[in-house]
Amino acid sequence: MPRLTPDFHAWLRSASERLDPGNAWPDEQVERLRSAGVLQWTVPRRFGGQELPEPELLRGYLDLSRSCLTTAFLLTQHNAAVQRLVSGSENDWAAALLTAVARDGAWCTVGISHFSTSRQHLQRPVVAADQSPDGTWRLNGCVPWVTGAAHADWLVTGGALPDGRQVLLGVERGSPGVTIETPLPLMALNATQTGRVHLGQVRVPADRVVAGPADQVMKVGTKGGTGSLGTSVLALGTALGILDRLNEEVQSRETLREVVSLLHSEADGLQTGLLTATALEQGSAGSAEELRFRANSLVSRTSQAYLAACKGAGYVQGHPAERAIREAMFFQVWSCPQAVVNSTLNDLTCRD
Ligand SMILES: Cc1cc2nc3c(=O)[nH]c(=O)nc-3n(C[C@H](O)[C@H](O)[C@H](O)COP(=O)(O)OP(=O)(O)OC[C@H]3O[C@@H](n4cnc5c(N)ncnc54)[C@H](O)[C@@H]3O)c2cc1C
Repeated sequence: MPRLTPDFHAWLRSASERLDPGNAWPDEQVERLRSAGVLQWTVPRRFGGQELPEPELLRGYLDLSRSCLTTAFLLTQHNAAVQRLVSGSENDWAAALLTAVARDGAWCTVGISHFSTSRQHLQRPVVAADQSPDGTWRLNGCVPWVTGAAHADWLVTGGALPDGRQVLLGVERGSPGVTIETPLPLMALNATQTGRVHLGQVRVPADRVVAGPADQVMKVGTKGGTGSLGTSVLALGTALGILDRLNEEVQSRETLREVVSLLHSEADGLQTGLLTATALEQGSAGSAEELRFRANSLVSRTSQAYLAACKGAGYVQGHPAERAIREAMFFQVWSCPQAVVNSTLNDLTCRD
């Protein structure tokens, strides 16, 4: 695997501290990913990409999230779009876009949570899709969550047809009718510039179908998706990054050594579980959910242990411990299947 250099990670790690208080898009981080060839990781070789095997991709996510969660997360959203394109039916448009990703660093993102974890309790779909007799698609509604939409060249999103089937399409950012709202003010990760995207009668040419129409479009084709191993790896990498900082405290406080060692052992066990599941081609949905629950729990507890060790100083805005707490909470809400939410709620209430 084309591993990123220690210098790359050292820079990412120190730059991540400057990212947090503001919401400026991390241009330099994205540019460095581009020039290091990271955007090619998930693109097939026939389009100029590197087509990394799943374990290597997860290893890359692990290292990146250990250094900077914002950067790693942005990459996963870009790759989610690319992986949907790869698993979709190949046509000239998709081939040209995948080539542009590999060769020119075209940036993509996804707005797909309204098919899985967001707005599921509403009676009406939040985005409606229909197709005119000439094959052109039309999207109308509001995509609730899109990361970095204003900086993406392409957005993979979709809507529900009148008969209930769903379609995923490639939408060019500048298409007439696409309005990107001001990013939502978040607990953490504001530099990801995440927010709503309005689609006002957006017309999408017929050849830009990424998946569907299908009853459950998120189940068509690709690996990954809600609560996938990749999401758990990001939580694990974040926990390891926090442990790196906690370890620095051990140098002056021997009493923390056992805590760090216990959390490290748990992280090692989780890493083994994730790699085994990858070898088993994702394992079952149940095992992926169990791994995600364990990863969420680990990152939450690790961030709390770090704050407890840093005491009141860690509670002051700008301290890495308070940032760790806020970033750890991201995993309770991002791409988190209901089964994982249920396990967390049971755990928090000490129910089996
Ligand atoms: C920082 C961040 C970045 C993200 N980036 C992306 C991205 O790039 N692409 C993407 O597709 N997704 C993204 N997501 C979305 C994410 O994966 C989840 O889908 C999202 O967090 C789900 O939260 P929600 O508020 O939309 O859930 P919802 O279930 O829609 O909840 C919304 C509100 O409805 C209430 N509610 C929920 N269920 C019920 C019910 N049964 N009855 C009554 N009220 C109910 C909730 O309490 C809540 O107040 C992102 C999320 C975050 C936080």
